[in-house]
Amino acid sequence: MPYYSVSRKAEADGEHLVHARGCAHYPNELNAQGLGWHVYCSTAVKAAAEFFLQVNGCEVCCWPCHKEHGHS
Ligand SMILES: [Zn+2]
Repeated sequence: MPYYSVSRKAEADGEHLVHARGCAHYPNELNAQGLGWHVYCSTAVKAAAEFFLQVNGCEVCCWPCHKEHGHS
């Protein structure tokens, strides 16, 4: 079960991305809001939504929870 964090720093599109520890894009210590241990990224993203309005799963480590935008 991975430990998840959400980046305190928003991406250019305003989203805060959720990462599992070990991801190449995992935020550094100062920038990481810890979310705890989760079996699935879906509950980690829900936990992140308690901290930030716009959240999304990292497309690398949380691809089942990554939402694409804009093109539909
Ligand atoms: Zn990631």
